[in-house]
Amino acid sequence: MEEVYNFSAGPAVLPQEVKSIVQEELANYRQTGMSVMEMSHRSNPFQDIIDEAEALLRELMNIPDNYHVLFLQGGASLQFSMLPMNLLTKHKKAEYVLTGSWSVKAAKEAEKFGDITTKISSNDKNFTYYPTVDLTTLSTDLDYIHITTNNTIEGTVIPSIPDTKQIPLVADMSSNILSEHYDVSKFGLIYAGAQKNIGPAGLTIAIVREDLIGSPIENCPTLLNYETYSKNQSLYNTPPTFSIYVAKLVFEWLKQKGGIAAIEKTNRQKAGMLYDFIDQSKLFHSLVKPGSRSLMNIPFTAESDELNAAFIKQAGEKGLVNLKGHRSVGGMRASIYNAMPVKGVQALIDFMESFEKANK
Ligand SMILES: *Cc1c(COP(=O)(O)O)cnc(C)c1O
Repeated sequence: MEEVYNFSAGPAVLPQEVKSIVQEELANYRQTGMSVMEMSHRSNPFQDIIDEAEALLRELMNIPDNYHVLFLQGGASLQFSMLPMNLLTKHKKAEYVLTGSWSVKAAKEAEKFGDITTKISSNDKNFTYYPTVDLTTLSTDLDYIHITTNNTIEGTVIPSIPDTKQIPLVADMSSNILSEHYDVSKFGLIYAGAQKNIGPAGLTIAIVREDLIGSPIENCPTLLNYETYSKNQSLYNTPPTFSIYVAKLVFEWLKQKGGIAAIEKTNRQKAGMLYDFIDQSKLFHSLVKPGSRSLMNIPFTAESDELNAAFIKQAGEKGLVNLKGHRSVGGMRASIYNAMPVKGVQALIDFMESFEKANK
């Protein structure tokens, strides 16, 4: 296929400009005679790469100095365990706000290390809205409150970040990190798998307030202790070097585009175009309540399973690929991360319009 628009939820679309640079530098990185893939993680060129990646992320997200930026592996899913092993150690109590299947999985892992409450939840309506994070119902001696800022599968986003006062707020930001402005100082810890809005799979980023590092569970495995990474600038052992390199290029691309403020504006425009079309359509429906709608992952459905299947098939033939919804939700899902151009969303809307005309 010549040109496709990739609506995959993850691993997901990367900026064309970044792929071109990777291609140019692939075999011979800046006159070193070797690829970044072949380079020692202790070499000067790689040290520059990881330093620049961290500096760019700090600049883009305006990360305060008392936060560490850690480059980890194991995906966001390993954070479901690593997080309680490091933070669920004082009162051994935490609240997990349940807003979708990823938060359910996160809570399940944390239960192995302490008492987990799930008082705030949107499970009553199949996770189709984002519940109010009302602290008055919660115990005051929690080690942290865990939220998922954007629910990749269900297509909801937290409308505003709650003030959790002295209780650290922890966020799984895997599917909307760098897509809109968040004030990092409101969080104790933010983590995200890279393969949605940052770069290739294999890299996980954690942004951790320094006072939360250093009191893990007893006998914590070295590689599951945040301190191992904070003390060694994420170079205790071999990090996912190539993924860090591509992430650095994505950060440069985003900075060039005007940073988070600029990309947020484009993201609101892209999502707005798609929701506006869906809301006036007589064939397609949004599953998510207005006010909770994600800018990144937009599930929608036609009238029947047959029409959904026909839509996905015909869209694929037009180069609009990976639109099948998650198996737990059904229908379609368009993931429109930072790297999805406005014209990709327009191409999807144009096709939806012609599909609706042909099937009314
Ligand atoms: C994709 C995703 C995960 C799982 O990420 P892995 O890197 O595959 O472990 C967890 N949480 C959210 C919100 C996600 O979107």
